[in-house]
Amino acid sequence: MATRNRDDFTQKTVLEIAKRAGWLCSFPNCRRATVGATADDNNKAINVGTASHICAAARGGPRYDKKMSSAERSATTNGIWMCRDHGTAIDSTDSKFTVNELRMWKREAEDDARWRVLYGEGTPQGAATKTDAGERLRVAAVADLEVFRRTAKWPSTSVPLTLEVQGFEESVTTRALASAVTSLEDLILVAPPGMGKTSTLFQLAESMLADGRGTPVFVSLGDWAMEDLDFLSSILRRPTFHGISEADFRQVARQPGVALFLDGWNELDSNARKRARVQLV
Ligand SMILES: [Zn+2]
Repeated sequence: MATRNRDDFTQKTVLEIAKRAGWLCSFPNCRRATVGATADDNNKAINVGTASHICAAARGGPRYDKKMSSAERSATTNGIWMCRDHGTAIDSTDSKFTVNELRMWKREAEDDARWRVLYGEGTPQGAATKTDAGERLRVAAVADLEVFRRTAKWPSTSVPLTLEVQGFEESVTTRALASAVTSLEDLILVAPPGMGKTSTLFQLAESMLADGRGTPVFVSLGDWAMEDLDFLSSILRRPTFHGISEADFRQVARQPGVALFLDGWNELDSNARKRARVQLV
């Protein structure tokens, strides 16, 4: 892409964007610090933050808006401060995050930064999520589901599904099942490919969140099988779960309400199935 057609931020604008967010990442739940002193040079600081464009700086970039003027495109209002990981996530050309979403994050991060200056901590919402691991996990799960929703795997159906469950007398709606999931030990959906298991899982997850009954955490087994990680590490390395430690997760998962949704058993070969079985014990 020709750089001369880019409406980049000036140094001054970058600084302004960073300062408005208190030099912390604006991605929901992240708030990672992005500046600090270097270890080996008394005069220097490291900066792992980046000013990302909400609407792209150039044609072809994510969320490019051709109706914007060059001045609007390179203005402070069109920039959002991100840590390196989240900057990469939202700047990728296949980024699924919307303009409205990014504007909302920017506003929340800037409110948070102002509260931190005025009262010594973030906004009440921000402060509350800092202390309650369960709430932070729930917020992350919502954001994570949102990411899944934007991928091709998200089922297009929005019709409430009905399914037969072993041990249940009659067929049940996914909504009713969602409230049962939190009390059942295990729920395994068995059906040949293409019968709507993924749709069912997503509807269960959404129902669970809507009722506030629990926190569904998705694992796409096909993706997981390509990584050499256990389920928990594979979940926590997702950008949406930044800021949640393994200890947090284990603490929350000890109480009822966290459900692991494993999707795509059919995609696993026998070795991967063996690995998965071991981890589920
Ligand atoms: Zn971040």
